[in-house]
Amino acid sequence: MPDDKLPTPERVLVVAAHPDDIEFGAAGTVARWVTEGAVVHYLLVTRGDKGSDDPATDVVALGELREREQRSAATEIGVDGVDFLDEPDGQVEPSLRLRERITHAIRSFRPEVVMTHDPTVLFVNNEWVNHPDHRAVGQVAVDAVFPTARDPLNFREHLEAGLEAWKVAELFLWSTNEANQLVDIGGTMERKIDALRHHASQFRSFDEIARWVRRRSEELGERAGYPAAEGFRRVTLAR
Ligand SMILES: [Zn+2]
Repeated sequence: MPDDKLPTPERVLVVAAHPDDIEFGAAGTVARWVTEGAVVHYLLVTRGDKGSDDPATDVVALGELREREQRSAATEIGVDGVDFLDEPDGQVEPSLRLRERITHAIRSFRPEVVMTHDPTVLFVNNEWVNHPDHRAVGQVAVDAVFPTARDPLNFREHLEAGLEAWKVAELFLWSTNEANQLVDIGGTMERKIDALRHHASQFRSFDEIARWVRRRSEELGERAGYPAAEGFRRVTLAR
């Protein structure tokens, strides 16, 4: 049994910019929570329709393919539902309109935990630039959690439609430079890899990617004595 003393939430909403972001960042933890009885919902802001280096790509067909890949990856993990907001890939802005849409999802699903991108990260481990869509989605998701979804006068039309204000208890932010929560994913590492494998359109050599993901997860786990880990910036919101 994992000894990271991580409680199992009842409901978890995972908000991501693109298909495959969740599999890289959080699927080991999601798989563990699902096994422990959590109900998990994915909210994808884009379909990843720019995720190709071939200029002749049919972006509509690519978006449809990547949506199917994401749904298969979610099914692999036992996720309850997947929704797409269909914002254009590569052009996500931290807009009020997007905040309204994510707030609506939070008030509908009423999660204890929201997982998303750490919006404060511009350079991940000084190794790569964090995609602007990741930063925008993380920012809007955090703003939707606090204070927007919590305070009933924000987007009051939700209340009129029967959706009450909702307080999220905790944020789990991935691709962070300030992980304060390592989750032991020793028991679900293979399921994370299996979920990632569904995003076939994104990999020339899946074996190489899988080796890289395994090595990074094992290195992260070593810090806490786990066989493998995912790292999060965990923020517990005051009640
Ligand atoms: Zn992404």
